[in-house]
Amino acid sequence: MSQPFDRVFVGDVVAEGTILRHGFVAARGERIAAMGQGAPPAAGEVLDHTGKLLLPGLVDGHMHTSSVLGWAGIEGATRSAAAGGVTTCCDMPYDVPLPVTDAGKLDAKRGWVERTAHVDVALYGTITKTGGVDAIPELAAGGVSAFKLSTYEYDPVRFPRIDPPTMRAAFRAVGRTGLPVAIHNEDQEIVERLTAEARAAGRTEPIWHCRTRPPVAETMADLAIFEMGREAGAHVHIAHSSLARGFDIAAAFRRAGGRDGFDATGEACIQYLCMTEEDIVRLGGRGKCNPPFRAAAEIPRMWEALLAERVAYVSTDHAPWPIEAKRDRDIFACPAGLVGLQSFAPLMFTLLDERGLSPVLMARFCAERSARLHGLFPKKGALRVGSDCDILVLERGDFVFDEARIVDRPELRWSPYHGRRMRARVAATVLRGALVWDGATVLATPGTGRFVPRQTR
Ligand SMILES: [Zn+2]
Repeated sequence: MSQPFDRVFVGDVVAEGTILRHGFVAARGERIAAMGQGAPPAAGEVLDHTGKLLLPGLVDGHMHTSSVLGWAGIEGATRSAAAGGVTTCCDMPYDVPLPVTDAGKLDAKRGWVERTAHVDVALYGTITKTGGVDAIPELAAGGVSAFKLSTYEYDPVRFPRIDPPTMRAAFRAVGRTGLPVAIHNEDQEIVERLTAEARAAGRTEPIWHCRTRPPVAETMADLAIFEMGREAGAHVHIAHSSLARGFDIAAAFRRAGGRDGFDATGEACIQYLCMTEEDIVRLGGRGKCNPPFRAAAEIPRMWEALLAERVAYVSTDHAPWPIEAKRDRDIFACPAGLVGLQSFAPLMFTLLDERGLSPVLMARFCAERSARLHGLFPKKGALRVGSDCDILVLERGDFVFDEARIVDRPELRWSPYHGRRMRARVAATVLRGALVWDGATVLATPGTGRFVPRQTR
């Protein structure tokens, strides 16, 4: 038998909850055709990463490629994803100038993805502030992986607050599609009142971002969405819980149950596993995101929730604002959102390793579980025979994260993790059997990435 495999990747393979030391992943075309331990089989090409970890390419379930630059942002964000070992990006729908609210816009965005993306992309859909519920079936038919709605208004068109009567109707319609609906969970009235009071008192220092968005502003929204979800029979998902209590609330609703089709889940963004209020004081606008960083005492509670499997998955909420916009001394004038794609894999590995936890948890929470929720598993999110051959190669060592190495546009080369010591770096990224990052250079070209429709209902 001559050259039965196109490529074989050698290293310590993180698969199915264990690590296969001295393992291999063999690809035929774009898919994994064999896996195992010991001497690798014959192949057209052998990529030897002995001593390094081979994980499933990460599936980032939450990012915003197009909230600042419009769809032109897809190209740079996915280039940075390739350099960060993220092989599937689940992109939010709140795009400039118009969000993804019907099949026509979904098709157009899909076209941009297929012309400009460096890695594969799944897409969320959303609804217009009024009258948008009718478009939910066509968005589901067009292959969105999930829906996203908000209890908080950033912009009446691009990122509107959906009022409770409209949200109830939307949940019933989403429930009939079988897809999950992720919710941005902040109570508008609490945040607006506290922000107005802080501004009137001249309190515009960074910490006031946290003080004007207290935990109760988040958990009140959590309660409201799950209460509507159980009535409607929809899978309601907290798009980002900065609080362990969010996962406790989801678990309580899950246990109590609801109408057929109801489920209650929540995700943690990686910043809520490591950043605290002291970090926004240190970073200023570069530490501003919504929900905000919380008190230091919240970090161990978040890890407890993760280890108890109450966290659906871990994402980045990558939302790359130009660094200039983040330098305003008035924290309320700075836009909210962090650059996070390229630091995701090294940081997650480091946070686990610092706690003596296995990288198996990274495969589970940053690839498998996000792929499952988005209906992409096992095509994405797994190293197993038949899956797309998407691999993150991690090299362990003593590194420092340098924002200057971010491979997005110059104004987006900043990171709240600049200067942080990392215990791993991304040595290579493989997308559907092909090397797209070799540890120094992105080899993928615009258009290498594809739109990945939801595979399951
Ligand atoms: Zn977000």
